[in-house]
Amino acid sequence: MTTFHNFIGGAWVAPLTGEYFENRNPADQQDVIGRFPASGVADVDAAVASAQRGFERWKRTPAPARGDVLRRVGDLMAARKEEIANLMTREMGKPLAETRGDVQEGIDTAYYAATEGRRLFGHTVPSELANKWAMTMRRPIGVCGLITPFNFPMAIPTWKAFPALLCGNSVILKPAEDVPHTATVLVEILLEAGLPPEVIQLVHGMGEVVGKALVEHPQVPVISFTGSTETGRFVGETCGRMHKRLSLEMGGKNAQIVLDDADLDLAVDGVLWGAFGTTGQRCTATSRLILQAGIHDTFVEKLVARAQALVLGDGRVAGHDVGPLVSEASREKVERYVQIGKEQGATLRCGGARATGGALDAGFFFQPTIFTNVTAGSRLEQEEIFGPVLSVIQVATVEQAFAVNNGVRYGLSSSVYTSNVNVAFRALQDLDNGITYVNAPTIGAEAHLPFGGVKETGNGHREGGWEVYEFYSETKVGYVDY
Ligand code: NAP
Repeated sequence: MTTFHNFIGGAWVAPLTGEYFENRNPADQQDVIGRFPASGVADVDAAVASAQRGFERWKRTPAPARGDVLRRVGDLMAARKEEIANLMTREMGKPLAETRGDVQEGIDTAYYAATEGRRLFGHTVPSELANKWAMTMRRPIGVCGLITPFNFPMAIPTWKAFPALLCGNSVILKPAEDVPHTATVLVEILLEAGLPPEVIQLVHGMGEVVGKALVEHPQVPVISFTGSTETGRFVGETCGRMHKRLSLEMGGKNAQIVLDDADLDLAVDGVLWGAFGTTGQRCTATSRLILQAGIHDTFVEKLVARAQALVLGDGRVAGHDVGPLVSEASREKVERYVQIGKEQGATLRCGGARATGGALDAGFFFQPTIFTNVTAGSRLEQEEIFGPVLSVIQVATVEQAFAVNNGVRYGLSSSVYTSNVNVAFRALQDLDNGITYVNAPTIGAEAHLPFGGVKETGNGHREGGWEVYEFYSETKVGYVDY
């Protein structure tokens, strides 16, 4: 079995704990990917000390030169795209078409960050006084602790690491324990591209140990966390007490609205991939479908037929549409919610059980599941399940559709299918989400556009786009009298 290491102090090293955990393919539990460090607090301490040394050097490297490193990262990642997509599918299950997209997002983020190296602008501002120059500039902050989830093993670490590095910070990456291999390859690429070794540290291990130690470490002034709202609450409380700069990207309960005047086939396509792509394990996954009464029955018939035709299996095999859930714990959570749906009187239209038989028995597969007659306000409609379970809610009017969309504690993405341009613009204005799509599913992101949610999905920061460069740098003001 291959043994993987942490990257701390400029070298690939074994954990000080001497302990490891195994990572297995969720489509085939017999397939062991390797063993990875189950690091401890002392490993985090060593990573922070090294990252502080790395920061002193990197912050003096001109921003355009930092950008040049990231351009080479984009080139190297593009050259290894197919290999990375394959190993990502093996470790977390989503099909190759999706893992290729995940790597492409990393490549786009690298190239976008590279260009920002020549645009890390401050401003000159007129002073009130004579013979005085006034200006703003952007300064790096220090060691950034990056804690990432399992569902976008390349895209999300790059959304955090590349702008953090471009701004002149050093970085400690703690990837989700389900996807340590992709993170290892990301660090290999950063080093090959010429990033000075102590500027990046990779610490594998459990969230409750390594993630917690990073969040609580007094010499880590910046934390960027993406994951569940429950974990994010602990991270937020701790960072608040310690006055840390914090970006939180958390759960979602995203809705696709289909109105009577919509292109139904387009909308069926949208919800099919929004709900069941990545086995429903996207933060932007469509977990609620809000249908206007006039098209409800026709739409459900079309959608159920398409969902039942989806082919489940190992995502590396051509023709497999949907992979496994990432873990047995995730599958059990999905099963609990199916039970809750039945108990609360929703109608199970398809799925609702483990997908079994042949090769499927070796993995964490679950049938694409659709409930109709779901009541707004019920647990099925309100709580993030993070699996292939779609709740259909029927409404009479556009106003009701918008109210149901807004009636949850989350606010990541939403989508509306309509041919009425006025309603489309009203949706952009009135839906309480960080992202609203018109005539497109709730999923998808572009590296140069801001990404993030409102309400309990986020804390006001964004990933991607220009905004993230403000998060990873401080504004400083300079006055010069002459
Ligand atoms: P998670 O269980 O909250 O884990 C996220 C990360 O936090 C992992 O690296 C985890 O480590 C770590 N962690 C766990 N406990 C911790 C602690 N006490 N202190 C510090 N770190 C800790 O989330 P997940 O299951 O990986 O991802 C799914 C969730 O992420 C969903 O809720 C989804 O909506 C959300 N998500 C949001 C966005 C967005 O942009 N809004 C994007 C993607 C995903 P371990 O892996 O070792 O437990």
